[in-house]
Amino acid sequence: MLRSEPRFDPKRKRVDYKKTQFANASYKDQDYPYRLSFYDVPPTQEISLEEFEVWAIDRLRILAEIESCSFRNKSPQETAAHLEPLLKKYLPLSSNSSAAGGIVDERLRKERRKDHYSHFILRLAFSGTEDLRRRFARVETMLFRLRFQADDSRERRAFVESLNLNWEVVQDDEKRELGEQLLAATPGLRRLEEENWFKVDWTRVPELVEHRTVLVKKGKAYVPMREQTSMVLTEFSNRLDKALELTSRALPRLDEDDRLTPILDHLSKNFATPDAAFSDSDSSLAGAPINAANIDTLSQHFPLCMKHLHTTLRKNNHLKHFGRLQYSLFLKGIGLSLEDCLIFWRQSFKTITDDQFNKEYRYNVRHVYGDVGGDANRRGRGYAPYSCQKILTEHPPGTGEAHGCPYRHFSVDNLTSMLQATGVHDRDVLRGVKEDVEKKRFHIACNRVFEWAHKAEIKKVKDEGIWGPAELETIVHPNTYFKRSYLLKNLGNLPKQDVRMEE
Ligand code: SF4
Repeated sequence: MLRSEPRFDPKRKRVDYKKTQFANASYKDQDYPYRLSFYDVPPTQEISLEEFEVWAIDRLRILAEIESCSFRNKSPQETAAHLEPLLKKYLPLSSNSSAAGGIVDERLRKERRKDHYSHFILRLAFSGTEDLRRRFARVETMLFRLRFQADDSRERRAFVESLNLNWEVVQDDEKRELGEQLLAATPGLRRLEEENWFKVDWTRVPELVEHRTVLVKKGKAYVPMREQTSMVLTEFSNRLDKALELTSRALPRLDEDDRLTPILDHLSKNFATPDAAFSDSDSSLAGAPINAANIDTLSQHFPLCMKHLHTTLRKNNHLKHFGRLQYSLFLKGIGLSLEDCLIFWRQSFKTITDDQFNKEYRYNVRHVYGDVGGDANRRGRGYAPYSCQKILTEHPPGTGEAHGCPYRHFSVDNLTSMLQATGVHDRDVLRGVKEDVEKKRFHIACNRVFEWAHKAEIKKVKDEGIWGPAELETIVHPNTYFKRSYLLKNLGNLPKQDVRMEE
């Protein structure tokens, strides 16, 4: 579950765009008459740094889920169903008709303000490179499409009219005059009365022209009304592409702002691999037998990174420093107590004496748990278990080291062998993993394997309404993988209330 935490410093000042690099922007209270937006006008109101970061992170969760649905070839209907509760939670955007008398009230204004600002903040964060711009424009267009299709039809029409897209509606005389040609150019249409058309410069609908689904005459394309959605989407994405180009040119000026740059860097890094902070609820598994003697059994629920550490430890009776660190933190995260963790490591290092263990390893394990040491351990809780992002991007393993993420740090052949050794023989899954890895979607490959290995259980919790889509968000933390796997595989053994994934 994506659970990125804001890193704002509440003591810092509020961002006042009027006084900083947006000095030319005029302050304007937006009244947001429509639910949807093409985001043509940048926001100029003052917001706090906290809002700046939290709103951006909330939007990022949505975009990451949309991208993950598309990577996993979910149909538009499946994507919409998966996103619905997440959108409600992180980025609600209600229609005017949901307010009393259809009047845009404070609740709607708040939702629209958050949507507006978060879009522009992420625009800043993702305009730095061609790849980020392309991905951002793609997922934003998908988000827009979801909302456009779900919009109240009356409000959608009013919104489209407000865009002034220069679409000239073809009048009845012309329609009759071009009758045969219009019918011939519109696939599936039998009678002229069943459709209406509008004219635009043909260069604005290159795809329709290419697929020969519109009549082109004197430089104008005659587009059937049913193509309106695709026209609006093309317009949205074209405008966004241009805006991102412009933003990227203005970016260097932002370097001077030492409050925003670190936040924007963090956000763009998060887009590559979503980050997730560990929360205590990740380790709360009511009644689960989490102890030193049970780690071998529990390892069936571990993600591949931790399975690899576990099997390497069993094979060599030893793990190198970063492996011990990554694994100890994970074990702490699943709820293993410090005492049991010490027992686990002591028993695992079979070839050394008690004395050597006490001298060389005991302190480090206690440090991980915050039992000794200062710095990050000051609060007495030790370091947080590593997220996928941290494992994927920091300290790549060297020769003889077993930490890291197999999806990223193994060759495709070794990865395939390891997956097969852990029981993954399905050819489609292995092919999908290979494609994911080639496209550097490492955590998507991991989620693909998880979904395959828990297919029946996921279907059950969905069908019986035990878990909602929010509890099946893309996994971006090894401890979420463990907890989800444990709960799913123990559906029949646990009381219903204990099977819920908590926030
Ligand atoms: Fe572990 Fe995350 Fe890699 Fe999966 S994607 S193997 S959970 S680091």
